[in-house]
Amino acid sequence: MRIGSPKEIKNHEYRVGLTPESAKELVMQGHEVWIETQAGAGIDANDDQYVAAGAKIVDGPDPIFAECEMVVKVKEPQSVERKKLREGQILYTYLHLAPDADQTKELLDSGVTAIAYETVTGPRGQLPLLKPMSQVAGRMSVQAGASALEKAHGGRGVLLGGVPGVMPGKVVVIGGGVVGFNAAQMAVGLGADVTILDRDPEVLEKVGTHFEARASTRFSNAANLYDAVTNADLVIGAVLIPGAAAPKLVTRDTLRDMQKGAVLVDVAIDQGGCFETSKPTTHADPTYVIDDVVHYCVANMPGAVARTSTYALNNVTLPHALRIARMGWKDALAADPHLAEGLNVHRGEVTYEAVATELGYDY
Ligand code: NAD
Repeated sequence: MRIGSPKEIKNHEYRVGLTPESAKELVMQGHEVWIETQAGAGIDANDDQYVAAGAKIVDGPDPIFAECEMVVKVKEPQSVERKKLREGQILYTYLHLAPDADQTKELLDSGVTAIAYETVTGPRGQLPLLKPMSQVAGRMSVQAGASALEKAHGGRGVLLGGVPGVMPGKVVVIGGGVVGFNAAQMAVGLGADVTILDRDPEVLEKVGTHFEARASTRFSNAANLYDAVTNADLVIGAVLIPGAAAPKLVTRDTLRDMQKGAVLVDVAIDQGGCFETSKPTTHADPTYVIDDVVHYCVANMPGAVARTSTYALNNVTLPHALRIARMGWKDALAADPHLAEGLNVHRGEVTYEAVATELGYDY
């Protein structure tokens, strides 16, 4: 099969659909790989590396959209890209169609077969192609919080790990799922005093067993949240209620009782945020201060570490790409019901129930 990755064109998107290593795997299995020139620039992978991997470098995105049987991307195709998609072509990327009526209509009009990373499932009902980005955001949240705690960045001047003879910083992680678990790992690794709150007893048991005495666990109710948050140096918001807006767990009133210069990192900002005072920020201007509390609310945290994020994403997307390339999409999906969950649009029809229901299409 001929597979191509264009350069991503969404604002501030530095990731790329295929790394040189992934291109090499596809080439080694007998496929042809076309990469748009400079597509890997944002992850420090140059054209020569792709050529060494056996890929062909093409000028601009047009040859890829015109002649490749499968297009592998990261972000949903932008309007100008959607116009280039062809009937029968396979599009394999993040799509997030439910809130995006325009994109859905244009994908339907194009006749493309679109497999969305975010709806591919795993054996225990998880979303394995979303997980690496939560891992990245969780790990990064501690880094971002540690930096915001520095005096020059508006923080209270606390070093998370402390030093011999001085107490470490107090980190409170709300939500012990993928983001929260990874945040706790980093905070524990730095030597901080870490508390994880969750409402799910199984999650509390899992993190409790994993971290043992290196972190405390607490049931997430209003009283425990208030107590933990008002004593914290760094609070990380990592909750998710699938399909719903994030609950506002830290209210404006609680904020007033927090320590001056404490830091809130709201990773759940992409679901509206779990602090009442959260509003989305960007990597260019990531923080703002309310009531002397520093807020970091970047909605696309993994974008800042595009290289790590691209490699993490390729680790989970490549095995499916190889199978689709080897078997063709129809047989690959028939052989793997989890990959089949990824099919969102096929030849003018919405093939994913939640998207059809949300946007009023037949299913
Ligand atoms: P997850 O489902 O693995 O974990 C969420 C956890 O929140 C669960 O353990 C759940 O029990 C817990 N929870 C729900 N309600 C709670 C409450 N009231 N108190 C305490 N815990 C509660 O989800 P995840 O993959 O860890 O993602 C967390 C959030 O981070 C999501 O909104 C996700 O979209 C977001 N995210 C943001 C970025 C970014 O760049 N900002 C990147 C990746 C993920």
